[in-house]
Amino acid sequence: MRSVDVVVVGGGPAGAAAAERLKVAGADVLVLDKERFPRHKLCAGWITPQVLEDLQLEVSAYPHGFLSFRRLHFHVKGPRLAVPCVQHSIRRFEFDAWLLERSGAEVVQHTVREIRADSGDHYEIDGIFRCRHLIGAGGTSCPVRRSLFGAAHPRTRTLQTATLELEFPCDWRDGDCHLWFFEHGLPGYSWYVPKAAGWLNVGIGGMASRLKQRGESIREHWSHLAEKLQRQFGIKPGEPTGYSYYVRDFGAPVRIGNAYLTGDSAGLSTRDLCEGIGPAISSGQQAAHAIVTGNEYTLEGVADASLGGGLISRCVDWAFTRGAGRVIQPQLVARSR
Ligand SMILES: Cc1cc2nc3c(=O)[nH]c(=O)nc-3n(C[C@H](O)[C@H](O)[C@H](O)COP(=O)(O)OP(=O)(O)OC[C@H]3O[C@@H](n4cnc5c(N)ncnc54)[C@H](O)[C@@H]3O)c2cc1C
Repeated sequence: MRSVDVVVVGGGPAGAAAAERLKVAGADVLVLDKERFPRHKLCAGWITPQVLEDLQLEVSAYPHGFLSFRRLHFHVKGPRLAVPCVQHSIRRFEFDAWLLERSGAEVVQHTVREIRADSGDHYEIDGIFRCRHLIGAGGTSCPVRRSLFGAAHPRTRTLQTATLELEFPCDWRDGDCHLWFFEHGLPGYSWYVPKAAGWLNVGIGGMASRLKQRGESIREHWSHLAEKLQRQFGIKPGEPTGYSYYVRDFGAPVRIGNAYLTGDSAGLSTRDLCEGIGPAISSGQQAAHAIVTGNEYTLEGVADASLGGGLISRCVDWAFTRGAGRVIQPQLVARSR
């Protein structure tokens, strides 16, 4: 059996960011991922300036396609608000492989199936690997979550998203990002995200349980988006693919013993725009920091809102989740009695 200080399960942004910090601190770290990188990852690939800051990434040092938008167009049931901003897009196929390689960590292609905590406070993975610290960075169906957290702490179903998207070569003319909220009653939004070198990502996401309550499927909403893209941009998208993930549940545990959950495995996407790359990276870095320093693993500083956390953020969050998974402060409860 191979023994290391830290095993990171999953080499996406959360796992790569954790592995990089651990390597820098001199830890003996191994990343296990079921895929060989570069691998396809369903994602619009919109990233914020905070992501660049957390990664200390100079755009000129990034070797792949990178596009910056000067405006975000918010369409809310018709009316449009064009917000000047600096936001960016990357292709996950390129970005994730680059990030993982940059970490300097050893990566082994392996599908993790069974994890057991042994009596000496270590973890055994499939009878092949053994470690003292274990980072779960395997996305929504992360085996670390499933094996060590799942039974006692089931997911909050009302925080689950359903998505469909497509990324394809396109001679796009509009280089800004567009987001359409609540159209046809969708408890979510759809997007148009242009990328460098003639790529375009279009997609749609909504809260799965609310769609179910309404007796609707995300596919029906995709048809509305496809019609709109044709009408507005003359684009006819092909067949999309789906994926599901969770937005932030403030009450869910992210550490048990020496096992840590990060990124989508912890369900950390923001409550208003369901942005997950930034929270994945910062939670990976925080988990690494906790291991290296022996400090507590907290999600302090891991963004839970993309729109600044003010009134607009809270209203969008409420419209999506109806407040599910928010922790009510004990003193507020006491005062209201
Ligand atoms: C359609 C869609 C659009 C999105 N758009 C955006 C966006 O524009 N901006 C944004 O910030 N966020 C977006 N998100 C969210 C974002 O993609 C995720 O939050 C982010 O990828 C989480 O990163 P992660 O490292 O936690 O997980 P992942 O990126 O999913 O990486 C998990 C890794 O674990 C590996 N793995 C899984 N199971 C195992 C196993 N059993 N054994 C070994 N390895 C395993 C996988 O192969 C994968 O490489 C979008 C999501 C979707 C679905």
